[in-house]
Amino acid sequence: MADKENATSEGQAKGDQKLSKAKADMSPWPDFINERIALWDKLMARHKEELAKKVPEKIKITLPDGKEFEGESWRTTPLEIAEKISRGLAENAVVAKVNDEVWDIDRPFEGNATLKLAKFDDTAGKQVGDVRLLATSRVDGVGHWFNCRSIQRLIASSNVFWHSSAHVLGEALERYCGGHLCYGPPIAEGFYYDMFKEGDRISTEEYPQLEEIITCAVKDKQPFERLEMSKEDLLEMFKYNKFKVRILNEKVKTPTTTVYRCGPLIDLCRGPHVRHTGKIKAIKVTNASASYWEGKADAESLQRVYGISFPDSKQLKEWQKLQEEAAKRDHRKVGRDQNLFFFHLMSPGSAFFYPKGAHIYNTLIDFIKKEYRKRGFNEVISPNMYNSKLWETSGHWQHYSDNM
Ligand SMILES: [Zn+2]
Repeated sequence: MADKENATSEGQAKGDQKLSKAKADMSPWPDFINERIALWDKLMARHKEELAKKVPEKIKITLPDGKEFEGESWRTTPLEIAEKISRGLAENAVVAKVNDEVWDIDRPFEGNATLKLAKFDDTAGKQVGDVRLLATSRVDGVGHWFNCRSIQRLIASSNVFWHSSAHVLGEALERYCGGHLCYGPPIAEGFYYDMFKEGDRISTEEYPQLEEIITCAVKDKQPFERLEMSKEDLLEMFKYNKFKVRILNEKVKTPTTTVYRCGPLIDLCRGPHVRHTGKIKAIKVTNASASYWEGKADAESLQRVYGISFPDSKQLKEWQKLQEEAAKRDHRKVGRDQNLFFFHLMSPGSAFFYPKGAHIYNTLIDFIKKEYRKRGFNEVISPNMYNSKLWETSGHWQHYSDNM
């Protein structure tokens, strides 16, 4: 793509001047980025004006242990309360729950409130985060080969973190390719973002360029800012992107919904997020593949870019080591090396067994049948092939269709 090759770090005249510039950045940015920021600035100024007009009243904020703090409505934030409790809590709190509603940590209270705060590695942090994330993404179980304890703990509580990281990846994709973003959820190990750009494919050689922009976004410590917008304004803001328009028309049933901004990226989202992109200390682009809009084979073809991130680079190294170990034990590799089975495009996902593999397969089948009988189970036989609708319902289609 010629515009990628010619991209320089100069000339972002209209953009946010405070942002660092990666060499891989498009120059100039696609028009939609600047137009989106212009509308955001206008609406944010109005929102701040309205907020300033609200007359603050004395309010009481109650913690789960019964401890009470005084504050002011429309002024005091959960973050300020966290700071009063301890610096560590203020630094590491990921999620707030105000009157049992998920709340951005720097969004002012609107009246008397109960407050729960959760740190990244608190079990509560996971629970509070999941409540909202379930609406936009599948929340997977722990990958079975993760046997390192610290990683396991991290996986269990990392959805808010990986969800936030997906925004940063989306920002890089827009600035590098100028593509239109679709869905960008956290997954069992990391996150991905689907992007539409006619005829564009991201190759392995381009990962470092994307990572360069990501690193700049992280260094900038871009805050995640929230704005509630009317559907009308949202349709105007995202008019360049037919996928976001589809989401607005088909999925948003309320007169208003929220968008979040980090750096030049403004995205439809219900949150919550880490406070700023600087919390994401280690991040890597791991894979890119083709996908379809909402997993439908007759819909638009998209580029799916995967990433992984951690709050500290030691954890990324640990994860990479586990990846290498898992690759050595990959059943597809073992099957090939030991002449047990092979895979063919004629039936992706089901193995063709050689004699040695067939022997192991039959031995396992005999064993499991014996165990079933011992336990009083009766045998049934179900089909090998199903209508793809079943897998769409289960979610396999959207996530694993490449290998099915
Ligand atoms: Zn988000």
